[in-house]
Amino acid sequence: ASLLLFNKEKPDIASIRHAIEASEKQALRAGDAIHELLNLLTLREVVSEPFDLGNEILGFLAVARVENELHVHTDLRLEEGLPPVVAKRTHVQKVLGNLLHNSVEAMQEAAIPQPEITIVMRAEQDGKFARVTIQDRGPGVPQQDVDRLFEPFFTTKQNGMGMGLAISRSLIEASGGRLWAETEPGSGTAFHFTLPLAA
Ligand code: ADP
Repeated sequence: ASLLLFNKEKPDIASIRHAIEASEKQALRAGDAIHELLNLLTLREVVSEPFDLGNEILGFLAVARVENELHVHTDLRLEEGLPPVVAKRTHVQKVLGNLLHNSVEAMQEAAIPQPEITIVMRAEQDGKFARVTIQDRGPGVPQQDVDRLFEPFFTTKQNGMGMGLAISRSLIEASGGRLWAETEPGSGTAFHFTLPLAA
């Protein structure tokens, strides 16, 4: 577009500057997206291993609190006596981080007076999967956007990349589970993911 504008008889410098600035912004955004991808996807092979998902969640929350990344009240309901899950542990940590970060941000942006996150872990009825639900009290998501949340580059944030949920879904699927969202505008958003339990 800049070249076309430039080749005109009387090039309009302001339009050309605008076009180049817009290109610069998109190029930087693409660069950031690649960095984010590389950060999230460790390049070495990650293997599935059995681990206690409840302990993993507790450990993750403890670290997030120490690092002051989780300054909202959390209501924890972790079913006891669950067999270990078999999954890619570092991936699960990244997904937990992404979902919690999004929830905190959504409630902060909407200035929710009593922000709270509920985390539920229980076995699915078939006994073959564990399900984790992370529910916030944020503004929720318009119904028509619920499935689009997982599309790469879908974002409603000014400086958002829109890669977090797309990557999170891939990471959970790589462990044999599923990740989806449920929302009711006005009463928050719930993200659910499942992971296979050890036989
Ligand atoms: P980003 O955070 O960079 O926008 P994500 O893929 O993590 O990328 O999220 C995509 C979009 O999904 C967000 O921009 C936001 O609109 C929506 N979203 C994600 N989590 C929540 C949540 N807990 N409450 C409300 N909206 C959310």
